[in-house]
Amino acid sequence: AWARIRGRLREDVGEVEYRSWLRQMTLSAIEGEEVVILLPTRFLRDWVRTHYSDRLRVLWQAEHPGVRRIDIRVATEARPAEPRGEEPAQPRAGGLAESLSPRQPEPVRPEPARAAEPRAAERPTNDWSAKLDPRFTFDSFVVGKPNEFAHACARRVAEKPASPGFNPLFLYGGVGLGKTHLMHAVAWAIQNGEGGVERHVTYMSAETFMYRFINALRNQSTMQFKESLRSVDVLMIDDLQFLIGKDNTQEEFFHTFNALVDAGKQIVVSADKSPSDLSGLEDRLRTRLGCGMVADIHATTYELRISILQAKAQTAEVEVPSRVLEFLAHKITSNVRELEGALNRLIAHANLFGRPVTLESAQEVLHDILRAHDRRVTIEEIQRKVAEHYNIRLTDMSSARRARNVARPRQVAMYLAKQLTSRSLPEIGRRFGNRDHTTVMHAVSRVAELMQADVSFAEDVELLRRMLET
Ligand code: ADP
Ligand code: MG
Repeated sequence: AWARIRGRLREDVGEVEYRSWLRQMTLSAIEGEEVVILLPTRFLRDWVRTHYSDRLRVLWQAEHPGVRRIDIRVATEARPAEPRGEEPAQPRAGGLAESLSPRQPEPVRPEPARAAEPRAAERPTNDWSAKLDPRFTFDSFVVGKPNEFAHACARRVAEKPASPGFNPLFLYGGVGLGKTHLMHAVAWAIQNGEGGVERHVTYMSAETFMYRFINALRNQSTMQFKESLRSVDVLMIDDLQFLIGKDNTQEEFFHTFNALVDAGKQIVVSADKSPSDLSGLEDRLRTRLGCGMVADIHATTYELRISILQAKAQTAEVEVPSRVLEFLAHKITSNVRELEGALNRLIAHANLFGRPVTLESAQEVLHDILRAHDRRVTIEEIQRKVAEHYNIRLTDMSSARRARNVARPRQVAMYLAKQLTSRSLPEIGRRFGNRDHTTVMHAVSRVAELMQADVSFAEDVELLRRMLET
């Protein structure tokens, strides 16, 4: 019946409309009077809900007179809620992790998750690895100069966990450069028995580790917590920097770590810095973390960005011209996640409107992203340049001095900060010696006024802007 309904709908609305909005519908369930239909994104769900639910209902009723409602959902909503891999951030120093003081907020987990899933401590075994991302495999990881060493180490660990020299494996690098992807790839490979043996892998973020630990303390089930962790063959902890300042959790992790390594089990850890640069972690832990293999994922090169884009574009249904890929690789250099996001948006747009991807459409569709990347100027840079230009001290940017020769440059810097960064007025105020946002607002309009009135002042400010933008 579903196939017939789709066919009728397709005839009804025409090929273009069908392809734009309805092609990705899937039938999830018929539950009594209700038919559940899934769409991959919220955007599509809302669109189909508003524009097609009546028609869908009528078509369904023609097939099954009992149907009364059509429930249109996003594909993930339909599954029983799962706790997110990473829990919401908590206050840092002295946060609840450490004090367990009743005034601190509880670690929040979405309620349905709690109902659907027994608490960690009550589980006979841990199957936390269920949260691995199916897209993050070795197959989909593009190797290039900046990541080839980390990749080789990850491969090695996946093939032969706990081999000497590779335990622990410590992966580090900046945001969005593939640490989590590589870790999941290792976990998948080991789980799929690529080494020929079945092994028990546990992957979680350091944040999750902390919440499990705290829950165990609360429920007085630390023994189970310890046992469940000590029974794994491979323990992977992502974003270890989260444990900075969480001394109790760090200590617990240190003991887990030692117990596992002593028992010949593999540990894989990721962080945003190398062990020696993770100040704030206990020395003995840093030392042990650096004992195995430490692998750095470097910032991407243009070549790697192109390869990644090509790989992703290949799987798309629309053709993305290489000029567009080159354009993206030039413009979006900071992290792979944003690069991917930009490409996905282009593809989605082309799919929705049935138009080809071109350089022009890319510039239009990615307007906001590209602008953000054009303007990678920091407030510090602005302050430095402006202070230099007017020959005042950098500290006067945040000092309380009100003399005109200091106050005016400060206003110029605030004006430029507003123009060239995406910071809000209160944020800018804070960076200029904790000034109020109204002070910044005043500075911005005052400088604009002066630029109107005084051509040479305007030229000055424009010159500064150009220097900062290039
Ligand atoms: P990190 O954990 O370092 O912040 P992620 O592993 O989450 O970064 O990567 C961010 C996104 O970029 C993910 O979607 C990931 O698949 C993708 N990515 C990063 N590096 C690569 C790569 N070398 N090949 C393919 N995809 C990559
Ligand atoms: Mg990550």
